[in-house]
Amino acid sequence: MEKHRKPDYFYIDNYDRWTIRTLKELEAKEAAEMQDVDDPIKRFAIEVVRGADSMAYRNTAISRARNRQETIREWIMTDEHKDRLIEKHPVPKGVTCDLCGKAMRFNTHFFDVQSIPLLFVFECPANHGPRKAIYPNGQEHVFPKPTCKKCGYEVARESHNQNNILYTTTTCSMCGTVEKDELDLNFEPEEEFMITEEDRQKYCLSFFKERTFMEDLEAINNFVIRFDEDQKDKELKEHYEIDKIERLTIPALETRLQKAIENEGFIKLGFDRPEMKTWTVVPFNLQDPTDRNDKKSIKTITSCIKQTIFTTNWRLVGSIDYRLGFLTGKLKAYEREEDLIKLAIEIKGNVG
Ligand SMILES: [Zn+2]
Ligand SMILES: [Zn+2]
Repeated sequence: MEKHRKPDYFYIDNYDRWTIRTLKELEAKEAAEMQDVDDPIKRFAIEVVRGADSMAYRNTAISRARNRQETIREWIMTDEHKDRLIEKHPVPKGVTCDLCGKAMRFNTHFFDVQSIPLLFVFECPANHGPRKAIYPNGQEHVFPKPTCKKCGYEVARESHNQNNILYTTTTCSMCGTVEKDELDLNFEPEEEFMITEEDRQKYCLSFFKERTFMEDLEAINNFVIRFDEDQKDKELKEHYEIDKIERLTIPALETRLQKAIENEGFIKLGFDRPEMKTWTVVPFNLQDPTDRNDKKSIKTITSCIKQTIFTTNWRLVGSIDYRLGFLTGKLKAYEREEDLIKLAIEIKGNVG
């Protein structure tokens, strides 16, 4: 039996053929619409309407190009799945005609009918209808009987074929509704034209990275929003005078503190290796050679350091420890905008 999975080009050409045919039609139609429009404003208005119309040439081209790979992949997967199902389930045996009792012939597979993955269709060699649909396990699948659209009662259906047109009459014996249907069996598949590589390039491939008119609008809109946000951010920074916060390097901080602590009678300020994680934290130590007691010493140095670094981006973390004239503590640097704003508010609140 013929495999469902065909060579890749089969799916690619199928997809591209539809794209090329549709886009050529749209292209011609849109060119004709523009033909006698000379007024540039009117031309622009037409372009705008087309820009918002998902069925217009350009938008169709873009969406066909974007969906191309995925659609082709899905088609291939569907066909490969069919082949796997067929391979897994051999044709059931022993299916007989209800009318003449003869063995029925396997005719074709049905896939995904009423969410049943696979059914085998059998027909009687003497053409006794109806055909039978059989599950892979050999059981017959009984299709639900047709019902009346108006009252839901079971309907009777009669068909006859004339000049290869199938005429069907559906009659409801409950409410009397009669429906007539025609199905032209003289269906001829559309001729498959050859795809030229120029056409494939122009209609199927070149639009892949293009942006639609609406996406362009959105991009402009986002740009304006971002611009506004940047502007607000700038105003906020100016308002809180963030630029006035002194951003000190570790050596600059050390130099500044050195002088301040000496004025208060402390000596030997030293910085340990900084911890650079989310924050930069620098452990420090110094000594108090005076005869102040521990409480007095801690109070003096805490207030000295706080005042010295108040206008900078550095702050004391936790409290300072004192042991036998040796004091230790930690300093933390603030570098993120939102933290600097908080510091700026703090500074402004104290100064102003
Ligand atoms: Zn039969
Ligand atoms: Zn009815």
